[in-house]
Amino acid sequence: MPELIVDLEGAKKFLREKQAKTAIVQIPEGLKTKTTQIIDELKEACENVFAKMDPCFGACDLPLNDMKALNADAVIHIGHGAIHPHKNIIYIPCHYDLGEKELEKNVSALLKELEKRKINSIALVSNVQYSNALPGIKEKLFRHGIKSFIGKGTSRIATQGQVLGCNYSVVEEVQPAVQASVYFGDGYFHPMGLVFSTKKPVIVVNPLHGTVEEISEKNRDRFMRKRFAAIAKASQAKKFGIIVTVKSGQRQKEKALKLKEAIERHGKQAYLLEMDLVVESYMTGIGVDCLVNTACNRIVLDDSDNWKTLIINPTECLIAIGEKTWEEWVPDEFPH
Ligand code: SF4
Repeated sequence: MPELIVDLEGAKKFLREKQAKTAIVQIPEGLKTKTTQIIDELKEACENVFAKMDPCFGACDLPLNDMKALNADAVIHIGHGAIHPHKNIIYIPCHYDLGEKELEKNVSALLKELEKRKINSIALVSNVQYSNALPGIKEKLFRHGIKSFIGKGTSRIATQGQVLGCNYSVVEEVQPAVQASVYFGDGYFHPMGLVFSTKKPVIVVNPLHGTVEEISEKNRDRFMRKRFAAIAKASQAKKFGIIVTVKSGQRQKEKALKLKEAIERHGKQAYLLEMDLVVESYMTGIGVDCLVNTACNRIVLDDSDNWKTLIINPTECLIAIGEKTWEEWVPDEFPH
């Protein structure tokens, strides 16, 4: 299993430059077991280091209110690249350290798959934990006649070739030049997003499991059947609750207001709900038939099976009330 590297030297330098007396460190769930070690190390550069214990979604989830409440001089955000640059926040993305041997093994398995499918031009993408491996992979593939394109993405994207569940701009910009997308990383959430963003084959290289596979039509159909069933149910709803989170990079008040207007135009009732962490139990018994989530799309696309209440994304709501057609379904992205 490759090791996840956290480089705290940059964080310490930043704290010294800021002459920070109080700092907040945000640690991703997978690294919380290292909390005391991380605090001990950061204490070399700052007297009072608070580790934020609330779950952290990503760089879209900055503790700006906590900063004010604790009068903190700086935030160390570990695990993700910047979405919103901020003069008192440093982002320390974590990367897997894939050795040369591991990389070679993954590339040769990928080459076999590309050859089988007669693909010689690809969009090469990953999540932030593997994005530093992309240039090396590109070079290796090039030696075997494969052209790889690593997109820059929009301002929400910190590292070239990186996708977010709410932003696939790195693949969208290179589409005319490629036959397929290759996702280097673990999990299926981002690859499914690629399927819907590109409508071209998506090949997933999972370096943790050493597997290479194409996301099949079957997966896509199964996923879409669930979403369409939810939309069909939502079209019967009379009372909608529109969720707006106050998280720094997921806040969409304007979108929520437009949705409210649209729902009411169709003779239905709409109620605005605001919260930080979007959790179903906080909304128990509020008396709506359907929730519309304007926060991270992953809450619906990846987790709605675990919700008892019907919950859909904004585009799905517009389809349910007849403002958009079924063909216009997309996994809602945040403005680029
Ligand atoms: Fe944040 Fe969700 Fe976008 Fe990830 S997909 S950056 S968690 S809003």
